[in-house]
Amino acid sequence: MSEWYADVIVDISHEKLDRPFQYRIPDRLKEKLETGACVTVPFGNGNKLLKGYVVGIGTVCKYDPARMKEIQGIVRGEVGVEDRMIALAGWIRRNYGSTMIQALKVVLPAKRTVKRLEHRTLQRTLGREEILSLLGESRRKKQVAKERLLQELLEQESIPYEWVTGKLGVSAQTVKSLERAGAVRVVSTEAFRNPVSLAGTREQKRNLSEAQSRIVEEVMSDFDSGHPDIYLLHGITGSGKTEVYMRLVSEMVKRGRQAIVLIPEIALTYQTLLRFFNRFGDRVSILNSNLSPGEKYDQCERARKGEIDVIIGPRSALFTPFPNVGLIIMDEEHEGSYKSEASPKYHARETAIEAARLHGASVLLGSATPSLESYYRAETGEYKLFTLKERLTGGQLPRVYTIDLRKELKEGNRSIFSRKLQELLADRLSKGEQSILFLNRRGYAGFVSCRSCGHVMKCPHCDVSLSEHSAGRTGQGILMCHYCGYQEPKPKTCPKCGSKYINGFKAGTQQIEEKLKEMFPGVRTLRMDGDTTRTKDSYERILSAFTGGEADVLIGTQMIVKGHDFPKVTLVGVLAADLSLSVGDYRAGEKTFQLLTQAVGRAGRGELPGEAVIQTYQPEHYAVVHAAAQNYESFYKEEIIFREMMGYPPAAHMLAVQIFAKNQERGQALAEALASVTRRNFQDNGRSGEQDRPGPEEQAGLQIIGPAPASIGRINDIFRFVFYVKCMKYDTLVQIKDLLEEEMQKRQLADELVQFDFNPMNTM
Ligand code: ADP
Ligand code: ZN
Ligand code: ZN
Repeated sequence: MSEWYADVIVDISHEKLDRPFQYRIPDRLKEKLETGACVTVPFGNGNKLLKGYVVGIGTVCKYDPARMKEIQGIVRGEVGVEDRMIALAGWIRRNYGSTMIQALKVVLPAKRTVKRLEHRTLQRTLGREEILSLLGESRRKKQVAKERLLQELLEQESIPYEWVTGKLGVSAQTVKSLERAGAVRVVSTEAFRNPVSLAGTREQKRNLSEAQSRIVEEVMSDFDSGHPDIYLLHGITGSGKTEVYMRLVSEMVKRGRQAIVLIPEIALTYQTLLRFFNRFGDRVSILNSNLSPGEKYDQCERARKGEIDVIIGPRSALFTPFPNVGLIIMDEEHEGSYKSEASPKYHARETAIEAARLHGASVLLGSATPSLESYYRAETGEYKLFTLKERLTGGQLPRVYTIDLRKELKEGNRSIFSRKLQELLADRLSKGEQSILFLNRRGYAGFVSCRSCGHVMKCPHCDVSLSEHSAGRTGQGILMCHYCGYQEPKPKTCPKCGSKYINGFKAGTQQIEEKLKEMFPGVRTLRMDGDTTRTKDSYERILSAFTGGEADVLIGTQMIVKGHDFPKVTLVGVLAADLSLSVGDYRAGEKTFQLLTQAVGRAGRGELPGEAVIQTYQPEHYAVVHAAAQNYESFYKEEIIFREMMGYPPAAHMLAVQIFAKNQERGQALAEALASVTRRNFQDNGRSGEQDRPGPEEQAGLQIIGPAPASIGRINDIFRFVFYVKCMKYDTLVQIKDLLEEEMQKRQLADELVQFDFNPMNTM
């Protein structure tokens, strides 16, 4: 029998993770030991017995065999916070692929290695008169920096220290000299014990509506009877979901349990945060990406010690080390940001469900436009479905006009604004009401469509849009499918109607702003897109300027349709609804429906009724039709048929194997080798890209598609390739991942990297 060895980490802290110690596995434990197991090992010179965790198992001895120690035993019994975290990391590693160490780094907070973050302010200790005389003196001595600081101190009694050295450009030395002169004092306070401090009043607990109460009762009675479950709450914005969340959280807190509330993006959900703070005071805390590692660690410590009951944050908040979680809520569960983009590419939804299982907690997913995955599972009975149908604050859904841009062109309107949108814009401007123009720029890159008939160039095998690649030597562009690698030359005229307008809608927000100003001289505009919101402040600034009535029209991309309420907006124009329909991605329809539904929902939130104009080249597309009607169920019914027919998630599972390489040929060769290893080991019932669509019997089995260059084939001189495996069984995909991980270990490649993406949110 060959020897087996285990890599064991003995101190579970972020910075020790990179140094596992190797131990021999004694025969009696060979069968029982698994990655993630908690073990006892002799450690150090005195062979003190310590608790450790197995992060890897293998047959290669990496240490002097004569001095190698043996694992003593497996620890069983009581599950602590730490063990649960390790178990969760093990689950993440198994289900999404990565090393155990990478997975542990996801679930464990980095210890604070930096000095406690201080917040320093400079305070004036002399009166104005004395400062004035010091000012006169430094003027005479031409001490300009000191002069600037004193000038500032005349205006205000205390100044943040970073301001002094940053904005005012005053050196620490100068500050010291003033300190010695007794003019100022540096005061330091520990920053952000709790990142949000609140002075406001406690929010009143509301009486729940009947529909809301029923939800709370059912979730709590399942929980109390020892059967916590998974629930999907489908309810339009304003239907009272957040109110339900808060009530459930307080029920859990009453029972001595803690709650984790996941939200997609702190900046977009400020209003929700405030409501939680108002309700739960300092028993709630937030985690967000602005916090330093030290501050994050503080929040985790507070959770561990029981100082808080509720944490709100993005997907990483899931790993808050609460002793006894009772409920995990995931608001806007359809959002793409719940999927990690770095390896391990875990999805917070599935991971939340596993974490809840480990804790014996309930899971509540909420959305106005649920992901196809969740709705599918609700339909198949895996989750329980709740629906909230009415807006509690009144406010009607807006009236929607769908405008066919092909018809506009045919009738001689070449402007990017349809005649209906022009008419309604003019009307709002004359009444002094606000409008939003939304440019759906997702998938702006690449796809090719006809402005005359709306025809979109699609892959004959995958039913997703082809992407344009720059012209090669021949001068003619190439269209490519990023699932299967299918290619064809870009046509010069539309293959359907023969028109030469085969380039689609290509305007950016800046052009839209210019055209708007040409059409309506004097119109006041604000623009919000990636360019105008480089900093966090600018985002807030634009929003508050618009809310404050400083502009008539807000023009922007995705970010303007999420989260924020604009009570004075009565018109929303969607400039080209189908731009996002044509991304080379099987989720294109779903994402378009979500964006359009959100965009349309921006109009008429206040007292005045709203209207929305959806401009599109594909007015008949079901994602457009159902978004215009604000009807999720009918959208779902059509979309799921497409997914089932094509074998896309959630009807099947899909694994993207992503290959990164410095050398193009070697990357390509590796991608092909890995795909063929997969084909050899798991019979390929389906067909690769060159052939026709697989028949229904073949779809039941496994299908391998590609490899193909990634949609962005090279980033920073690293070449990227990808192939896809579709299968009904998730576990088969996990086996494939394991096989390929082994294969990569055998090859010991230095310049190539492989990553796995299960049920990817985007094409790579
Ligand atoms: P959602 O989270 O679905 O957008 P909210 O919970 O924010 O919905 O509720 C929308 C509005 O209705 C809020 O202003 C909220 O205060 C109010 N509201 C919610 N539930 C009730 C209730 N039971 N009675 C009165 N007002 C309510
Ligand atoms: Zn055409
Ligand atoms: Zn294809």
